[in-house]
Parts: sequence; structure tokens; C-alpha cells
Amino acid sequence: MATAPKAPSIGLLKGLGVTLKTFFQRATTQQYPHVKPDLPPRTRGVIALMEENCTVCMLCARECPDWCIYIDSHKEVVPPKEEGGRARTRNMLDRFAIDFALCMYCGICVEVCPFDALFWSPEFEYSTYSVRELTHEMDQLRVWMDTVPPPPALEVGAEEPKEIIDGLEAARKAAERAAVAAAPAAEAGPAGTSAAGAAAASPAAREEDIHVEAEIDQEVFDQLVAEGTSERVARAKAKAAFVRREKARIRRERAGSESPPEAGDPNQREGAAS
Ligand code: SF4
Ligand code: SF4
Repeated sequence: MATAPKAPSIGLLKGLGVTLKTFFQRATTQQYPHVKPDLPPRTRGVIALMEENCTVCMLCARECPDWCIYIDSHKEVVPPKEEGGRARTRNMLDRFAIDFALCMYCGICVEVCPFDALFWSPEFEYSTYSVRELTHEMDQLRVWMDTVPPPPALEVGAEEPKEIIDGLEAARKAAERAAVAAAPAAEAGPAGTSAAGAAAASPAAREEDIHVEAEIDQEVFDQLVAEGTSERVARAKAKAAFVRREKARIRRERAGSESPPEAGDPNQREGAAS
């Protein structure tokens, strides 16, 4: 005996109703990457590093719940800021890397950094086909600093932040010190300018003078790569090695030009005799 065809169920009719309702509406799908999404400015896209502010205190690496921040550093003795002061030991940053394959974007590292060295950037287009390439070194983290939005404006009548006041005060003191150091040179006139200026400049001022453009030390880079170090890490270490070597050379040259000729140095004696 033939069975009668079943009537469509209520669920099917409801589904067709939704289809009909949305059929003539505008599509809401965004055609990424042809159309960029309009993200809020404070989007947590990636973490950027202001390496000049980093003192290698290691707080971020210790607090990170995923242990995905890698920091290497070495110690350097820097001359005292004031004449007659004590030389200080300072941590110099060699490597700062974040493994974004492990990072869970909790933001703890940004929150705990006491020196404002870490920031959120809205940049999010750094996906790769290899999980290994998600470990980003400090040169890339520094590049992302350019995409960090400026801090929101202060409310009308609000006090300037302490960091700004301290920074302006430090800049004023540095300008005063430079003016005091330059005064004897100006009095000595053109003939005595260089010698008097060099003698008057404090060791700290001379140290601050040393600016070295970071380049890759090819020899160090090749050696690290031959030892199996990844190219990104090798590049960061080769840059740090280049800067260290150049600064040491400049310091040696300055010390040599300022110290009196020693009795046992034939080159200097010849120079003095002629
Ligand atoms: S955002 Fe969180 S998980 Fe990612 S590096 Fe910072 S502390 Fe670690
Ligand atoms: S907490 Fe800040 S200053 Fe300390 S190591 Fe991390 S980034 Fe550098």
C-alpha cells in the first residue's frame, strides 16, 4: 500500500524563512585581506619593545605565565655621570625575543614593566607558515614600536605624568652641564678650542657622545650560523657585538688621544719629538 507524502516539518519552514529574510540584505562578510578591518586603536595585536627603556630587570620574563620571553644581556662598566663619582655597572641588552606561538596575549608583561619598555601595538598581520618564525627578536619588536598609538590625551587641568616632569628636568640639567663644559672652550678662542673643550667635557658627557649605528658583524654572524644558531638570533647578536666593539674602539681612541705619552711608547715619543 502506497504511503502519503509527509508535510514539511516546522523546523524546515523556519529555516527557509530565515533564508528568505536575509537573501536580499547586504552581505556583512569582510573581504580580508583586500579590505582591512577597522579595529579599535588599543587592539592587542602584538607586543612592541622600546629597547632604550629596557634595563634588563627581567620582571616581564619572570611574570610571563607562558615563559615565552627570552632575554640575554651582559654587564658593562660605565663612567660616572659627575666628575669624581663612582663608575657604575649597567646591564646591556643583547637579546629580547617573544615567542608569539606560546604567548596568550594576557598583557601581564606590559603591565609589570616598570620602565615603560613594552607596549601593545594593533599590528596583527604577522602570521607565518612555520611556528618557528613566530619567535620575534628585538629588531622586529622595535619596528612595531612605530605602530603603537600615542597615549590618550590628558584630561583638562590634569597634572603632567611624573615621567614627563622627570624627563624635562633631566634634559634641563644635561643642557646646563653642556653649557658649563662649553664655556672654557669658548673663552680660550679658536686656537685652544679643541684641547680645552676635550679637557672640560666630563667622562659621562663623552660616554653619552658615543653613538654607533648598529650594523651586522658579518664574522660573528657567520660563526653563529655555522654553530647552528638561527639567523634571527645570530643577526641580533652580531649587531650587539658590532656596537660593543665599535664603542670600545672609540673609548680607546679617546683615552689614547687624551693621555700624555708614556715613556715606553716609541710612537708617541717620536710624535712628541717632531
Ligand atoms: S602577553 Fe602574557 S603570555 Fe604574552 S609575553 Fe606577555 S606575559 Fe607572556
Ligand atoms: S620588565 Fe621592562 S625593563 Fe624589565 S626586562 Fe622586561 S621589558 Fe625590560
